[in-house]
Formats: sequence, structure tokens, C-alpha cells
Amino acid sequence: MLQLTSEQRIQIAAHGERDYPYECCGLLLGHFENEGKKVCAELFPISNAREEAAKRNRFLIRPEELLRGERHAAAKGLEVVGFYHSHPDHPAVPSAYDLEHAWPVYSYIVVAIKSGHAEDLRSWEMQTDRTRFAEEEILKGN
Ligand SMILES: [Zn+2]
Repeated sequence: MLQLTSEQRIQIAAHGERDYPYECCGLLLGHFENEGKKVCAELFPISNAREEAAKRNRFLIRPEELLRGERHAAAKGLEVVGFYHSHPDHPAVPSAYDLEHAWPVYSYIVVAIKSGHAEDLRSWEMQTDRTRFAEEEILKGN
């Protein structure tokens, strides 16, 4: 379960629309709570590091960007609880590439951007056996 505010949803959708037709990505900063629940306290938008040609269908966060996000989080007493990225003209479902590059425990939000407009926003968590993603519930925070 991931708790997200309406404002955070809007920000992720807006980032995806802004970077269309390329993928956008960013970090979800917040807290891990009991029973696998994560609370997102703030977003940390970052740029997509991949080559121009690959930007449409894969996302990759450079290690130094991740470190910058982790330091920013730590300074505020937060942790990285997940990642978000957009799928331009593709459904809000993680790809095989996403699965290969994911870790268990974290939340993976995918927002579908169709013809420049954000549609579906869904959150996923990798199964502990790493074979697939399971959709996770998004709770509405304040
Ligand atoms: Zn993806």
C-alpha cells in the first residue's frame, strides 16, 4: 500500500505530460510504516538519463541522481520509498525492462500519458520472488 496525496498525483501527472513524448521519472520520498505500507511525503523529480533514442520506452536513474535524492531525503528525515515514471502512449503497467531493474519493497508508480495527456496512474510492488509485479493499493493522504 502506498499513501499519496491528490497534489502528489497531480504533480506526477504534470511531470509526465511535460516530458512527453519522453518518459519522466522521479523518486518518492517518505516513510515505511507497518505491514508494507509506505507514505509518500514528497516527490523528487529527476531527469531521464537514457539516450535520446531510448527515452520513449525505458527509464534509468543515474547513481549520482539517486544519491542526490537520498541525501535530500536524509536531510529531511525521509527515505526513498519508491520511484515513479511515465509510459508515453503505453498502459500504466510495468514493462519487462522495469521488472528486470526493480527491487522488492519499493513502490513503482507508472503513469500512462496518452497523446500528451495523463490518464491512468497505478502503483506496483515487486513480488519477493522477483518474478512479477503486483498492483498495490493507493491510499489517499492529506
Ligand atoms: Zn516503464
